[in-house]
Amino acid sequence: MEVKTSLLDNMIGVGDMVLLEPLSEDTFLENLKNRFDHNEIYTYIGSVVISINPYRSLPIYTPEKVEEYRNRNFYELSPHIYALADEAYRSLRDQDKDQCILITGESGAGKTEASKLVMSYVAAVCGKGQEVNKVKEQLLQSNPVLEAFGNAKTVRNDNSSRFGKYMDIEFDFKGDPLGGVISNYLLEKSRVVKQPRGERNFHIFYQLLSGYGLVVTEKLKLDRDFSKYNYLSLDSAVVSGLDDAANFRTVRNAMQIVGFMEDEMLSVLELVAAVLKLGNIEFKPESRCNGIDESHLKEMCELLGTEQSVLERAFSYRTVEAKMEKVSTTLNVAQAYYARDALAKNLYSRLFSWLITRINESIRVTKTRHKVMGVLDIYGFEIFEDNSFEQFIINYCNEKLQQIFIELTLREEQEEYVREGIEWTNIEYFNNAIICDLIENNQNGILAMLDEECLRPGTVTDETFLDKLNTICAEHQHFESRLSKSSKFLTDHSLPHNCFRIQHYAGKVLVTAGFVDKNNDLLYRDLSQAMYKANHSLIKQLFPEGNPAKVNLKRPPTAGFQFKASVGTLMSNLQTKNPNYIRCVKPNDKKASHIFTDSLVRHQVHYLGLMENVRVRRAGYAFRQAYEPCLERYKMLCKKTWPHWRGPAREGVEVLLTDLQVPTEEFAYGRSKIFIRNPRTLFFLEEKRKRC
Ligand code: ADP
Ligand code: MG
Repeated sequence: MEVKTSLLDNMIGVGDMVLLEPLSEDTFLENLKNRFDHNEIYTYIGSVVISINPYRSLPIYTPEKVEEYRNRNFYELSPHIYALADEAYRSLRDQDKDQCILITGESGAGKTEASKLVMSYVAAVCGKGQEVNKVKEQLLQSNPVLEAFGNAKTVRNDNSSRFGKYMDIEFDFKGDPLGGVISNYLLEKSRVVKQPRGERNFHIFYQLLSGYGLVVTEKLKLDRDFSKYNYLSLDSAVVSGLDDAANFRTVRNAMQIVGFMEDEMLSVLELVAAVLKLGNIEFKPESRCNGIDESHLKEMCELLGTEQSVLERAFSYRTVEAKMEKVSTTLNVAQAYYARDALAKNLYSRLFSWLITRINESIRVTKTRHKVMGVLDIYGFEIFEDNSFEQFIINYCNEKLQQIFIELTLREEQEEYVREGIEWTNIEYFNNAIICDLIENNQNGILAMLDEECLRPGTVTDETFLDKLNTICAEHQHFESRLSKSSKFLTDHSLPHNCFRIQHYAGKVLVTAGFVDKNNDLLYRDLSQAMYKANHSLIKQLFPEGNPAKVNLKRPPTAGFQFKASVGTLMSNLQTKNPNYIRCVKPNDKKASHIFTDSLVRHQVHYLGLMENVRVRRAGYAFRQAYEPCLERYKMLCKKTWPHWRGPAREGVEVLLTDLQVPTEEFAYGRSKIFIRNPRTLFFLEEKRKRC
């Protein structure tokens, strides 16, 4: 069979891992490396796109490239993220199928860039016209706004997303975008008050101090010197290659396009400034009202329109309301700092959620939507030296995504063969449902136990929580701790106290303290009431629970509970859509171009389950199609089937393929579909069709 296709000819290595011969983890890596060394950062596993971060700009995203990939079959050209975007968009437009683009990979692997490439590709190929262009512009410009407030420099990525984002783009029946809806998942709000070494706070703080002309110094009364603010880390405040002032202009411009009014923008930045000032408020022991340092407090109160005495009181006393009683206790200095930081975190994270709501208002679809493309860009697995509640939650989400991946790609693939009556040798794969269960089981899952512990009367600490875990999870295959009660299982006496280890599909993660506190996410009511009283258009809305008329004695849901619920919603949303996968791989941990660190990539290949993915694809058939459309498409290639085939479609396809002398091992006849083993056979048919 002589077929000219870019997947097979003139290609560096093998463009589709399904065609790799022989297949092993070594050859898989070799192929990735070979292609990466030749600037081929995309490689397929069937319809899955592997993307390796090049850490430099490659000339492969030009308008000419967009034209090249537009309306072309997935396997016709060399692997590219545009091919996936095109395929997804066309099936949405022409076949009425909701799509989702699932982008996973570890921090710095290129997920956010990939999501933007998909969005800009779709924007480039879908309809034109004034109204459509406005919608596109707004959708695209929501990115710089969210990145300014939700991204930060970390040791792994200079522009690391510190929140998970899912965006539904909604289209009309012609395939023109109408608008969208953005959801965010768990902003890492602890970053507002403290950053790990070598990392920064969210970009917007530095951008604001570097830009915005006189407003910053005169109206917001800020000092441009980062070092004046406790909440801004000093050792890494200036990042080479990052122009905060220029980025601030981009963000302001983007906010305008998205539809923020000038006064709204100022309100938002007032809150950002207030957080900085809040961080500078200090408390001294043994003096009245915790010896609050008044100058910063005063400035902050001016910005927020709050009365100084109200806030002073809120930093000095805590009122607990029980039934009909109110009891005030004084806060010690440590508690005052705790309250201050809790307020800063809440102010910022609620501001962030408000921004998303505000953007959603602008891009909301008012006409009837027809089809939806969801794009999920969510933090990948995080395995640090010190892993806390945040990593635990992030990894839980990735575990769930892996489960969807397994379910949809592997299991469905196998089940379809069974359904179609095609011979199939079972592929062994690791089903991570057991790990999801360890975390989310309603009775004895880690999250449920954490909630139970947090709601229990009496003294609750990370130690008491860990004791509980040790009693209940000790026998779980994926749980380890120093104190596991049953030594039969994975007890590891080298583990430090006060931590536990979860064996995720991606690797073992040691989780340390900080659970009870972060799950409680406590903001003293005195503070929310003080905020509610503020004479500031935005703040009041952010603290509705501070309304004294609506005192609610019920505890607000815990952070873990909320996250589990939103992950659940996300998963059911994704399950209704046709998934398209982009698996991002980080080539090295130096943020450097041209370096491919074998061990690092091997680890990712392993935990992304890529080998299993290829095996399933190879054991099976790359393509399948119902008999009727298959016959319809290719009947012109054979005199016996053209122009009309009078018998059952299945027989028509059989006659057709026999006539074309396609080797029999290339096909399997299922109950309702024809299965094509190799992409090459499809090219062959397509080529013949073109020449007809
Ligand atoms: P993630 O979202 O997975 O943490 P990002 O998408 O933010 O990672 O990528 C990290 C950095 O890597 C980007 O800021 C950019 O410099 C670089 N990068 C990622 N993808 C590409 C790409 N396709 N081309 C060029 N550079 C890229
Ligand atoms: Mg990101």
